[in-house]
Amino acid sequence: MTMHQMQIPIFSKLPKTGTTIFATMSQLAAQHQAINLSQGYPDFDCSPALIELVYKYMKDGHNQYAPLAGVPALREQIASKVNRAYDCAVNPETDITVTSGATQAIYTAITSMIRENDEVIVFEPSYDSYTPSILLNNGRPIYIRLEGPDFHIPWKAVKKVMTARTRMIIINTPHNPTGSVLSAEDMEELHHIVKDNNILLLFDEVYEHMVFDKGEHLSVLKYPALRDRSLVMYSFGKTFHNTGWKLGYCIAPAYLMKEFRKVHQYLIYCVNTPLQYALAAHLEDPSHYEGIADMYQQKRDLFLELIQKSRFKFVPTQGTYFQVLDYSAISTEKDIEFAKELTIKSKVASIPLSPFYSKKDNQHLLRFCFAKKDETLERAAQILCKL
Ligand code: PMP
Ligand code: GLN
Repeated sequence: MTMHQMQIPIFSKLPKTGTTIFATMSQLAAQHQAINLSQGYPDFDCSPALIELVYKYMKDGHNQYAPLAGVPALREQIASKVNRAYDCAVNPETDITVTSGATQAIYTAITSMIRENDEVIVFEPSYDSYTPSILLNNGRPIYIRLEGPDFHIPWKAVKKVMTARTRMIIINTPHNPTGSVLSAEDMEELHHIVKDNNILLLFDEVYEHMVFDKGEHLSVLKYPALRDRSLVMYSFGKTFHNTGWKLGYCIAPAYLMKEFRKVHQYLIYCVNTPLQYALAAHLEDPSHYEGIADMYQQKRDLFLELIQKSRFKFVPTQGTYFQVLDYSAISTEKDIEFAKELTIKSKVASIPLSPFYSKKDNQHLLRFCFAKKDETLERAAQILCKL
């Protein structure tokens, strides 16, 4: 007999939403002792020096609430990082808020800007937190599919769906799950589309340091005309290999940040104090993050070389630490079933792409995370080559 026999009727605010595919696949991987290339996180640790710094700041007594917008030393370091990387002057007082990961920043930005019936353009496949954040605010997601095989934005289609209600466009570059990266022409098209409208931009740039083959990450912060209408999201978890710390930040002009902070203060007030001090000290040395693209490119190249002889088809990913593989030569099964079977029977876990779409059709595509030790990639590739 259960303790609770009576249930109060609940009218779900997210009736069509289940548990995220990331939790589902990681749990399945653990249950079946599969090599986990599903959820995006490294299987190697973050810098021991950074961990020492956390301990130091805890011992030094930095254990109480931080200022609402973040520890000043960290905001100053973020401002110099952004200035150095994108030649962009950001005021640490008014334009930066430290958040509990990019997920909270995205939810906070959407909640502070999107009102009932506002339309938000979302490109599919899309990171799974965008749509629920829009729906919880009674906004309307308007979906546009990226066009393959390189998953570029079809700008003509964007123009066609724009209405007087279009309030925001969400852009993710480098893009999860496909690894595509916006070009200078894309940025021009975007500027052309928004310049005469009151449209806000949410730029999700959590993979800013993972662009390969000498490509450049075109941050919206490099474009003054677009920056004035943008809220830009970053994640220390991605950059410093500590996704479990859940620390990130949002950059936006003061007039937008003022509204962002009104929501932030009641959603969370502030985030973990000693971690902020430690990250501020760690950021003083840019070499701690500037070599990341090379490190991940080596991993991408190793993974692709190892699976070269498999029956998977692929286009090398341009950015992020994800590689999409086409399994149509191996199976005709739907992607969720195929990914589950691969986890349970073959012991390699990946992420199917259909959950990143509003209409769950089947493209026979799986996403593999290569932020793993070389030996992990070797073990996984051996299995993938036998399929
Ligand atoms: N945006 C994208 C595109 C992501 O892949 C992720 C996953 N890390 C996030 C946002 C969320 O980042 P965080 O873990 O910092 O909340
Ligand atoms: N960003 C990670 C991924 O794409 C997952 C983050 C999460 O589990 N919410 O795999």
